[in-house]
Amino acid sequence: MSNLKNFYINGQWVAPSAANDFDVINPSNEEVCATISLGSEADTNAAVAAARAAFESWAFTPKAEKMALLRKLLDIYKARSEEMAQAMSMEMGAPIKLSRAQQVGAGSWHLEGFINAFEKFEFDTPYTATEMTLREPIGVCALITPWNWPMNQIVLKVIPAIAAGCTVVLKPSEIAPLSGVLFSEFMDEAGFPAGVYNMVNGDGPGVGSQLSAHPDVDMVSFTGSSRAGKLISKSAADTLKRVSLELGGKGANIIFADARDNAPADGAARCFRNTGQSCNAPTRMFVEASRFAEAVEQVKATAEATKVAPASEDGGHIGPLVSEMQFNKVQDLIQKGIDEGATLLAGGTGRPDGLNRGYYARPTVFTDVTPDMTIYKKEIFGPVMCLMPFDTEEDVIEMTNDTPYGLTNYIQTEDTEKRRRVARRLRSGMVETNGSGFAQGSPFGGYKQSGNGREGGAFGIEEFLEVKAVSGWND
Ligand code: NAD
Repeated sequence: MSNLKNFYINGQWVAPSAANDFDVINPSNEEVCATISLGSEADTNAAVAAARAAFESWAFTPKAEKMALLRKLLDIYKARSEEMAQAMSMEMGAPIKLSRAQQVGAGSWHLEGFINAFEKFEFDTPYTATEMTLREPIGVCALITPWNWPMNQIVLKVIPAIAAGCTVVLKPSEIAPLSGVLFSEFMDEAGFPAGVYNMVNGDGPGVGSQLSAHPDVDMVSFTGSSRAGKLISKSAADTLKRVSLELGGKGANIIFADARDNAPADGAARCFRNTGQSCNAPTRMFVEASRFAEAVEQVKATAEATKVAPASEDGGHIGPLVSEMQFNKVQDLIQKGIDEGATLLAGGTGRPDGLNRGYYARPTVFTDVTPDMTIYKKEIFGPVMCLMPFDTEEDVIEMTNDTPYGLTNYIQTEDTEKRRRVARRLRSGMVETNGSGFAQGSPFGGYKQSGNGREGGAFGIEEFLEVKAVSGWND
């Protein structure tokens, strides 16, 4: 990657308007692994101007031409997948095996899903015999992404926006920007017309808020913390632009007495995956009382067997947390759990034995957790789980919905009627049942403070469209 300090604006790699170096830290060893530039207002303005200039032409570019570019991008993405796996593993600490299979795989999976959805997507639909409904691109879109699933988030925004006919400015997370630079190289190689896709690195208070307040940006699509989502909504308010938000979560995993035998162990492993740094992580496990003792055993064994090691090592371990800030936050929350009276079943504060450098946390499980405790309420974003019993279906529905978040909840039961009944009552954008994964293009997004957008497939393309009614179309 030769363009780490440059931005991609108007089809060119350009130097920042003013030097502002920023070190990227490898969380596995706390060493500087790259240096990028943080953009300033002049860079933001240049990228927005390029996107604006390209909009009219791209909006009216035939679908077949857009499709050919997307297919070429998919080929490049697949051909250069090892570079991408290495970049993400180094910048955010995903173990290389997970990075290759899931971090990289999520990007190609969604890219294929968008290509399929775009192929079938009807932009013009007759409303009556004489009236037509047109779906048109909203305009210039600012796309702001987090560090935890970098390619997943970037693909979920860039591809539907440009398939819809929008032009974009991407601002990847400054904590994990290497994959964003590499992705920009892929976009360049694919040959999208100048200005359709632009990328400026920067931080939230800088490029992030410049984009959300920008009068020439028509929409901001943001994935990240609820904290930043609120700030972005406020700074976007003056220009009344559309704001699409994909925010945090505090998912419940409801394990009924008739769930399959290993449901508690699977649920704990799922919580620890990506070192607990997933917005849809099932961090509150509710187990029906008759199976609680058995669940305690399974979960404790799973936490203790979860190996923690550097991202570059091959294997099924979990890696470090992404940054010193995230490490300190997770340590503070584990300590809060202890101070507020929860019982430590596994893990605790400090690094795992033998790991003295790197942002490694111990897979941690609390029992005796009550709804007033901080660890029950706050998104921790680390390998930390709360394990609680429940008595009745009604109780567990209430416990699950007792959170400002509403992203993904999980249900484990062999009883189909119960599964459906409970799924309807949960206030979340997604309900995953019995470990059965979602199909390509399925809508991803949250209720309540988990956001208001839906990403993936046709739902994702719709996010970036305006709807226009035209009367007398067939008169
Ligand atoms: P973050 O909110 O700190 O940062 C996300 C992005 O927003 C970064 O690019 C950052 O530079 C930018 N940003 C920060 N403050 C900003 C501001 N005031 N204005 C404009 N941009 C700003 O989040 P993070 O720590 O990178 O990611 C973790 C969070 O993301 C977690 O809360 C997680 O649940 C959430 N997340 C949600 C989803 C989802 O789809 N719902 C997916 C992944 C992550």
